Amino acid sequence: MGKHLRPGQAHVQPTVIRRRAAIAHPAGAVVSGIQACHADLERARRSLAGLSLGDAFGDRFDGPPGQVRAQLQRRELPGGPWRVTDDTMMAMAVIEVLSEHGRIDQDALAHRLGTRYLREPARGYGAGAHQILARIAAGEHWSRAARAVFEGAGSMGNGGAMRAAPVGAYFADDPARAAREAARAAEVTHAHPDGQAGAVAVALAAAWIANGTRRPELLFERVLAMTPAGDTRTVLQRAALLSLATPVTEAAARLGSGRRVLSSDTVPFALWCAARHLGDYQAALWSTVAGLGDRDTTCAIVGSLVALAPGVLLPADWIAAREPIDGL
Ligand SMILES: [Mg+2]
Repeated sequence: MGKHLRPGQAHVQPTVIRRRAAIAHPAGAVVSGIQACHADLERARRSLAGLSLGDAFGDRFDGPPGQVRAQLQRRELPGGPWRVTDDTMMAMAVIEVLSEHGRIDQDALAHRLGTRYLREPARGYGAGAHQILARIAAGEHWSRAARAVFEGAGSMGNGGAMRAAPVGAYFADDPARAAREAARAAEVTHAHPDGQAGAVAVALAAAWIANGTRRPELLFERVLAMTPAGDTRTVLQRAALLSLATPVTEAAARLGSGRRVLSSDTVPFALWCAARHLGDYQAALWSTVAGLGDRDTTCAIVGSLVALAPGVLLPADWIAAREPIDGL
């Protein structure tokens, strides 16, 4: 992890500091803009820590369903090191941009995504992401590269959603802004509106969880309030009506669990899993991976969300099993 992620370092640029001159502290005191920004970054970084751990955990269950189910039944942790994948690579780029700009600067994000892709292309990027990021890395403008797939329609895959929770965490005090910035972060690679809608939904969930509420039944209400129309929203509406007591395999069958690597068959299931286990990171991840499908990504999204819930701790033995990432 880059140097920008460590809290307490006074290197935040003036544009960031100007975002809020001062905010009221719950105790009535006023904290400086710099402190406020560090708090925003710290939340985003916490989300990234949960994301990277979920990503690496989920990716280690990438075997045949029968073998994975037996592993899950025994709750047998996979051997290390757990390698992180594209989900983490892209989320790290997002946080670097937030740290430097205090907002999603799309040109800066495209540059960082392209640079990371070029440095390590074998991090499990999907076929569409390979195409788009290779074009961006070669110097093509992101707005053209993002439209170069699916006959110009752009991707409605889950790549925007997998990196959206840190954006929601950063802008947790302003959910409408969180939604806008998450859409901008997705748009760099996902030109299709539904690829952006998934990112909006995840960012809204992150903002809501970071604000400390403990009533999981409200999660979908808050998310649906600002998620634009489209396939992802339609399945989110179904997820909202699905009891949190439903067996996870049934939820995966009804909502999808990323087998088609679309926003619409990934995000609703991930949000449902997060709502189901809001206070317990390990239970959330064991449950999510049991849905099979796009395991690294569903676990990355759920991990990025549940890590934001008050009092939730990431398991130290899991962190020790994950490949070392500076600052996480
Ligand atoms: Mg991945």
